[in-house]
Amino acid sequence: MNVFGLIGEKLSHSLSPIIHHYVYEILELEASYSLYQVQPHLLDAAVQGIRALDLRGVNVTIPYKVKIMGFLDYISPEAQKIGAVNTILNDASILKGYNTDYIGFGRLLDKHLIKPWGKRAVILGSGGAAKSVSAYLEDSGVSELYIVSRKPEEVNHFDKHEVISYEQLSLIEQGYLLINCTPIGMYPCENAIPIPQDEISKFENVVDLIYNPSCTLLMSTAINHGIPAYNGLYMLISQAIAAIEIWYRISIPKEIVDEVYKKLIQYMIKIG
Ligand code: NAP
Repeated sequence: MNVFGLIGEKLSHSLSPIIHHYVYEILELEASYSLYQVQPHLLDAAVQGIRALDLRGVNVTIPYKVKIMGFLDYISPEAQKIGAVNTILNDASILKGYNTDYIGFGRLLDKHLIKPWGKRAVILGSGGAAKSVSAYLEDSGVSELYIVSRKPEEVNHFDKHEVISYEQLSLIEQGYLLINCTPIGMYPCENAIPIPQDEISKFENVVDLIYNPSCTLLMSTAINHGIPAYNGLYMLISQAIAAIEIWYRISIPKEIVDEVYKKLIQYMIKIG
């Protein structure tokens, strides 16, 4: 039996156990996945615990994706570039850090046939998800990328891209891909939208990393303007499956990702 889990501070609403259990069931893997809520001053001890308890791997979430890097033995190139780790492999007590949000975002774009090569894109927000998304878009050959922040003058970790204010967004021309990497649209801001509604019609595609609710106000406004809009559920599942691929050193077919995606949609409808 391989033991896996998620390290974070507040995990009661996490969908990760259910996603992982679906995959273990489909692939007939003998594995368990638990939630480990860790207080900030015990993060070091929790990492030691991965070795001591021989956990095969863990995922890492808010607020530890950056801090945990200091406790690991190896960091993959994409995690290094992003500056955050969300997956750890315990390889005979050598702890190796990866970033599967990067992979998950790529698979979300593939799923919806969005090809970033040569495209122009705008990312809302400058946090952890924005870093993974910008690294992926950059590696995929976007021609132009803007990061939108409430305080652009304080954001200095996107050295290759211009960080602009929400006011400057009105100067952006038609045809960009818009990605929401802010929490605006999810609880407790479900009725809020990160940019003015009349700005949305100029975007070519909208991707909202939020998956609960499944259709944010940003997405429904885009759809009402005839603009394709997608939520972050496929990314959430894909980042989990990419972690399992790292832990087991296997490749999981896209059909399985799609099967888990359908099961999770049904589950979310059931729980409301
Ligand atoms: P984060 O590190 O806290 O960053 C969020 C960023 O959004 C902040 O850096 C901030 O940028 C902006 N922001 C925060 N509060 C805001 C507000 N009230 N109004 C406007 N902007 C605000 O969080 P994260 O990890 O990047 O996650 C961001 C979102 O993506 C969350 O909704 C999360 O659930 C989602 N996400 C989804 C997946 C997935 O698999 N689908 C994966 C990761 C994250 P500025 O200060 O520069 O404005």
